[in-house]
Amino acid sequence: MIDKILIANRGEIALRVIRACREMGIQSVAVHSTADSDAMHVRMADESVCIGPPVASESYLSFPAIISACEITGAQAIHPGYGFLSENARFVQIVEDHGLTFIGPSAEHIRVMGDKITAKDTMKALGVPCVPGSDGGVPTLEDAKRIGGEIGYPVIIKATAGGGGRGMKVAKTAADMEQAFMTARAEGKAAFGNDEVYIEKYLTTPRHIEIQVFGDGKGKAVHLGERDCSLQRRHQKVWEEAPGPVISEEERQKIGKICADAVAKIYYIGAGTIEFLYENGEFYFIEMNTRLQVEHPVTEAIFGVDLVREQIRVASGLPLSFEQDDLKINGHSIEVRLNAEKLPNFSPSPGKITAYHAPGGLGVRVDSALYDGYKIPPYYDSLIGKLIVHGRDRDEAIARLSRALGELIVDGIDTTLPLFTALVNAEDVQKGNYNIHWLEHWLEQTYKN
Ligand code: ADP
Repeated sequence: MIDKILIANRGEIALRVIRACREMGIQSVAVHSTADSDAMHVRMADESVCIGPPVASESYLSFPAIISACEITGAQAIHPGYGFLSENARFVQIVEDHGLTFIGPSAEHIRVMGDKITAKDTMKALGVPCVPGSDGGVPTLEDAKRIGGEIGYPVIIKATAGGGGRGMKVAKTAADMEQAFMTARAEGKAAFGNDEVYIEKYLTTPRHIEIQVFGDGKGKAVHLGERDCSLQRRHQKVWEEAPGPVISEEERQKIGKICADAVAKIYYIGAGTIEFLYENGEFYFIEMNTRLQVEHPVTEAIFGVDLVREQIRVASGLPLSFEQDDLKINGHSIEVRLNAEKLPNFSPSPGKITAYHAPGGLGVRVDSALYDGYKIPPYYDSLIGKLIVHGRDRDEAIARLSRALGELIVDGIDTTLPLFTALVNAEDVQKGNYNIHWLEHWLEQTYKN
């Protein structure tokens, strides 16, 4: 069994992993940049190592700095959290070459799923339903125009190396193709160093439904149902739920089994998320994330499991602590992402927290690295906390969310709290009546003045 884990991350996710370590009797090592010396994850871990200057490329993304920190502290394993190095196949390879354990899937699986074209081909071959589109990469504008005509507009042009909502452009009609094709390629090149793009049918009113899977690396895997993450701004999730408000038990079991069987067949190890668009009762694969997701707590809430603990178990060679038949849904859970951003433009709002009070009570979980007097540095992601509620059903979860939002105090900076206070009262949200475009329209209407 692993007895010391280094967490190659910061913020709330570093705390999340430290908490699992502590409950399992495992020592934790935090790493931090000079901008994060006062951060909560540094205070909470058993040990900490400063690994470089504020800029992430020289600290949280530095392979030598992180590997050296393992050597200095004697950590045998690295938990990457999400973001940073969590889906970097080259890093995983180097970790393994140093005789350390990466808590996550193999470098090969990360590589396959990190390239969206290869991922789609792989999933298709494994029997997972995909969005209709080009057969692989689309090299020229002429090809793009021909394929656009064949699939039928609207279409979406996607950078094969894309992620985080970048490198995607919609062409509503043939006339938009040139602009969309060129922009998606340029964005792919600039952000990911790869200008290959492919084309998909653009679904106009889908929901974003993702399936949580977990493999033991020995050919066995389970699914933990779905999360509905349709409330998005600029392809970024802001509110997530489990179970999905419109998914039936029959649909869940069917798509869940397809996903679990697919990852079992490739001997996948650890947590993974298979993302789909869902329209008119059909699921269409868009990508697989080979890591723990930001929104994993809603799944934990309804199944009563600790996904980080399971990640650590399978990375240590132990079996999963549950079988498919043990996994029964209990109630409904919602997560909202609190960002240090100023509405209505969502501009970054770092600075000093002058007062902080977290909500509590039955069915309320707050995953956050905030504390009174903490100074949010300007160098990193704007996510500062997640509020997760759990109720016996969706209505109770919504009432609880509304109550908990009312208790939350974050003073000194601007946050997205007012967005959620408004959303929780919006009729469509209360009824679960939304698709991936709903929030953008609502924001336009609500903040147009
Ligand atoms: P990323 O890796 O950048 O997150 P994804 O492929 O997961 O990109 O897509 C992110 C979001 O973009 C989806 O949740 C959805 O809102 C939108 N999207 C992606 N593909 C399509 C499509 N074919 N039709 C409509 N919307 C899409």
